[in-house]
Amino acid sequence: MTDQDNQPPAVPPSAATAAAKERAPAESGPSIVPPDSFTGRVSTLHEIALQIDAARSREEIMRVLRNEIRWIIPHRVCFACILDNFHTEYTVTSLSPADESGLPDGTRHPASAGVAGTVIMNESPLCLDLEEAGGDPPDEPGPDQGSVPESSLRTSGMRTLLMVPLRTGHETIGTLGIASDVQGAYGEQDIVLAQLLATQVAVALQNNAMFGDAQRRISQIELVNELAEDLTSTLELDQLLSAAAETIRKTCNFFDVSIFLVDRPREEAYLVAHSGMHVDFLPAGYRQKFGDGIVGWSISHDERVMSGDVTQDLRYSTNLYTETRSEMAIPIRVEHEIVGVLNVEDARLNAFDETDAIVLETLCDQMGSAIKNAQLYDRLKRTNAKLTEFDRMKSDFLGIVSHDFRSPLASIVLAAGALLKRLDSVDTRRLREYLTVIVDQANRLIRLAEDTLSITKMEAGQLNYFFNMVNLDRLIKDTISGVMISGRHTVNYEIDPRVAYVRGDQTKLRQVMQNLLSNAVKYSPSGGKVTIRAAHHSAEQLVVAVTDEGIGIPAEQQGKLFEKFSRVDTPEAKEIKGSGLGLWICREIIKAHGGQIWVESQEGKGSTFAFTLKKAHPDTTLE
Ligand code: ADP
Repeated sequence: MTDQDNQPPAVPPSAATAAAKERAPAESGPSIVPPDSFTGRVSTLHEIALQIDAARSREEIMRVLRNEIRWIIPHRVCFACILDNFHTEYTVTSLSPADESGLPDGTRHPASAGVAGTVIMNESPLCLDLEEAGGDPPDEPGPDQGSVPESSLRTSGMRTLLMVPLRTGHETIGTLGIASDVQGAYGEQDIVLAQLLATQVAVALQNNAMFGDAQRRISQIELVNELAEDLTSTLELDQLLSAAAETIRKTCNFFDVSIFLVDRPREEAYLVAHSGMHVDFLPAGYRQKFGDGIVGWSISHDERVMSGDVTQDLRYSTNLYTETRSEMAIPIRVEHEIVGVLNVEDARLNAFDETDAIVLETLCDQMGSAIKNAQLYDRLKRTNAKLTEFDRMKSDFLGIVSHDFRSPLASIVLAAGALLKRLDSVDTRRLREYLTVIVDQANRLIRLAEDTLSITKMEAGQLNYFFNMVNLDRLIKDTISGVMISGRHTVNYEIDPRVAYVRGDQTKLRQVMQNLLSNAVKYSPSGGKVTIRAAHHSAEQLVVAVTDEGIGIPAEQQGKLFEKFSRVDTPEAKEIKGSGLGLWICREIIKAHGGQIWVESQEGKGSTFAFTLKKAHPDTTLE
């Protein structure tokens, strides 16, 4: 029994019930005896009906029954069997004033089980002599494994059971049971009174359920509106989804609400927001494979899942939470593609209906749009950060380029000026020295101009390639003699004669070789050996590798080297001037040739930059 038994009835007893009470013996007597005249009992019933009508909740209705039914029908035990929404089970609620019934309160049974099952099916009252009815009526064990009410009643010494349907006119929603320890306790009048009372109770219960349902719908609609506003007002995804999970759980009264996002490459869903009973069980970032459990099933089948009884559902895989009875997983889509799942769980059987699903689906649509907005915002933020970084790099680049243009120009002007001054007296050795400076520096300028031009054209997608048969051997040798190599360096060059020719754009390939060779020299300031190797790589491809013994590149910085403006961020590398464009240009050119370029390096030991190209034979006809 609950403490409600000690509370006063919802409405004070009427004069009729008060009169009836005066005539009634004390509650502790063997059976509670109602007023003796039928008319008196009908009028008491009328008073009780008014109280039932005035009751504002199912609990209040039950409390009125518990307190008042004894004034119209004598009984030892009174109880209700209420069907669930799907009419698959009924739940027993004891209505006896003191818990002497021995009835296991709250047990569930299949809708067809026991005497209640028969009364529900036949929609008519049944009065039984419990002893005569013999052993237990067929009792399929319910989900809670309790026995049907009549079994307990028999055990606690009850002799007569009167069971009437709770009918609302067109629907039976359960039964009302009244039992006495007196044999043949109930006659025709009791049956009529019980039936009249049951109809009042059924209508009140249904009105109450409809009112509750209407209120639930109203708050769900309010929830949709509220969340719609919230979802559009914030662009921080995690914050947004956590707020959504919390609000859905509180408004809909579900016992657990979680939101998963989809990680396609790993074929997993990961938990991003969670509110409810299972919060402590599932760590943030918890992952579930596509196809696993109800959430995974919903993703892999691109479908909503509504399970009214997870214990009977083969898709259900998590047994950690024994309380879960119902689960519903609804896909969240962005432009028809599933990006997440809203998962709700409840301890009640068949806790969700189609309207819940529609409300939650509407929310999922809104969450989908919100996720899309947040993703766009996120992308925008990242692009913005990249653009800012680009802007900074471009300014750096302009500074470097203007410096790079100025210093060779200054050398040329100096050398040419000196030459002009001493034109009559200068000897051939000096003349050669001045002219070498002028030619070298002019070459540096040409390379710089080529690089700058390539970037502009590459960025605009306007770089044209002229593919032809290229003598790779000659190209490498020309590059070696064209690049300024200090006295501290030695250059080794090996080529496998089988790869002496490639199909490519000669000028662009020379640019790649020049960049790699001058980097090898530039980034080995203490000198050392620079090795160039051209060799067979696969049936289709050859590989060219430039190796130095220079400063090397830290492993964690190698990944971004081929990006535009990327420069190694170490004190040693920063000492050496550069624009961070050469390798990006190389990668673009090699990509256009259908090859790949990569680096292998060890900090302090040296680096190898290698690229592949398609092989060609000098006899091959080129288009
Ligand atoms: P730049 O040399 O003009 O800065 P690159 O695009 O050619 O631009 O090179 C990008 C960065 O890669 C350089 O700044 C340098 O830090 C690093 N790098 C390139 N080649 C080497 C090399 N052979 N050894 C060590 N670091 C290198």
